Amino acid sequence: MKLQTLTINKQRLEQRIDELAEIGKIGDTGVCRLTLSKEDREGVEKVKSWMEEAGLTTRIDDFGNLIGRLEGKDPNAPILMIGSHIDSQPYGGRFDGVIGVLGGLEVAQTLKEQNILPRMPIEVVAFSDEEGCRFNKGLFGVRGILGQLEEGELEREDKDGVTRREALKEFGCEPDRLKESEYEEGSIAAFLEMHIEQGPILEKNDLPVGIVTGISGPLWLTIELEGFAGHAGSVPMAMRQDALVGAAKIIVALNELAGEDPDAPTVGTVGSMSIFPDSRNIIPEKVTFTVDLRDIDINRRHRIEERLYERIAEITNQHGLTYKIHEDTNSEPRYCSEEIIGLMREESKNIGLDTIELMSGPFHDSLAMSYVCEYGMIFVRCKDGISHNPKEFSSIEDISLGAELLYRTTVRMAE
Ligand SMILES: [Zn+2]
Repeated sequence: MKLQTLTINKQRLEQRIDELAEIGKIGDTGVCRLTLSKEDREGVEKVKSWMEEAGLTTRIDDFGNLIGRLEGKDPNAPILMIGSHIDSQPYGGRFDGVIGVLGGLEVAQTLKEQNILPRMPIEVVAFSDEEGCRFNKGLFGVRGILGQLEEGELEREDKDGVTRREALKEFGCEPDRLKESEYEEGSIAAFLEMHIEQGPILEKNDLPVGIVTGISGPLWLTIELEGFAGHAGSVPMAMRQDALVGAAKIIVALNELAGEDPDAPTVGTVGSMSIFPDSRNIIPEKVTFTVDLRDIDINRRHRIEERLYERIAEITNQHGLTYKIHEDTNSEPRYCSEEIIGLMREESKNIGLDTIELMSGPFHDSLAMSYVCEYGMIFVRCKDGISHNPKEFSSIEDISLGAELLYRTTVRMAE
């Protein structure tokens, strides 16, 4: 198939991606724009200025979300929302989230330039704190506008003891007025998100763009093990209650359980850990670590959870430890709208773009949106599937094809 010419402006999109990557830049290609940080604010201001340049009305709400609005024929019709996030991991890449926000902006700006007046208002959003690394709980901004925040979220602290409430104030938000930034039920018609794949499937299939069929559900746990400290030189092995040995065995157990079926997409990871008292000659008394478990098949995930809990009980018993498990996040797989997938299929054919359909292992802002409206996602190939790493890379050719598909899907939905 021969590719059609792009309607969206590839140069402009590339220039903006490059310019945003300068904010919070680490090394040659990395980015550190932690949520609600000084760099995050600078990034938000930059994107806001581009939104205004494109003719959108902008605001930063009290969750720290940046929203640009393009008015439609009927200003009261439920909104078509397009977006993602621009906050990053501490050691992150230039494309994660960014291409969804700047791609959405490109869509809105192109609609204006093509003199297409959408049926409903279109809002382009950069959601606050998708990543969840600073306060250990993600999708903050998107859950915020949907009234899905949980008790105590504003009191969560970062590594320096700064609460989310304080960070929001520092950012210029008013955490006591969050209610006013919520969207009424039924006010959002649909959500579209373009994102880098963060996995190897598109590259393996030699395709620039994929249509997402759904997001697999992540389970996030924090596990705390407690034993008894003692002198590393004198307590005999048989008498030890070493919390780190227990943690090590649990990590291996999770790794084996998640990898048991090589054909299943199940993945399990322990990525963060703290040890008390953290001294080379004291037996570790307390270890806290995180568990991240995902699967597209919720029943299979539940079976693995159960077996993990059994293993934790066995291992802690064996080492004389007590344990606490805290569930930080527990979401089910969420499927994309069949109708939107259909439009994406047709429009990719219309532009001569070969695609495949695939599931998303990582979660995205779309996950929260999926509970209130129809949603569709486009994945863009990224090199070696690398993400959350300065080496993350997607070519502007691939990104602009994704943005074109996003544009054409929007036109179909907004006409
Ligand atoms: Zn992301």
